[in-house]
Amino acid sequence: MIDIGATIWFTGLSGAGKTTISTEVAKTLRQRGLKVEILDGDIVRQNLTRDLGFSRADRDENIRRIGFVANLLTRNGVVVLVSAISPYRDVRQEVRQKIGSSFIEVYVNASLASCEDRDVKGLYKRARQGEIKFFTGIDDPYEPPLKAEVECLTDQEDIEQSVTKVIEQFDILCSNAAVSSACL
Ligand code: ADP
Repeated sequence: MIDIGATIWFTGLSGAGKTTISTEVAKTLRQRGLKVEILDGDIVRQNLTRDLGFSRADRDENIRRIGFVANLLTRNGVVVLVSAISPYRDVRQEVRQKIGSSFIEVYVNASLASCEDRDVKGLYKRARQGEIKFFTGIDDPYEPPLKAEVECLTDQEDIEQSVTKVIEQFDILCSNAAVSSACL
């Protein structure tokens, strides 16, 4: 089997389900024997981008660095699962252009109300109380994708349905890649 490199980029509000879905997708792909790496926004910010804050410039820089690493891994046959709010469309587009046809954007779409209701990390409560400023969805923007390859409506579907959608799109990417390598 050839190593198919790809970047599957999960974007959406905090608590929308990016980490949950990407973790399940990783399990499925590893069971197939693929090399998988997860770049999770929270972990990246404790390591690769510790110096950055939450201004637009810093958020964009955060995404550029994640995109840079994702691109290197993708070129070397790894399936990279990026799970980051990545609120700005322009920089997501920039990463998409760098990675090219091996890029899948997944819009993990949940309403602000359900993200707040879930409040997985208790951050919405703190943002509403004014303890956290510039929190995406509350007092900082989120620009939804206009044409994501996959949209997971996590208000309406269960985790398994969301995971299936992502895997189906990955399989399409693999079959396209197989066709183009057969044509070389
Ligand atoms: P994020 O990584 O986007 O901040 P998390 O994955 O940490 O979000 O949290 C999402 C929460 O939503 C989890 O508690 C998860 O169980 C729940 N959830 C409910 N339905 C779904 C779904 N279809 N897909 C993903 N998560 C879901």
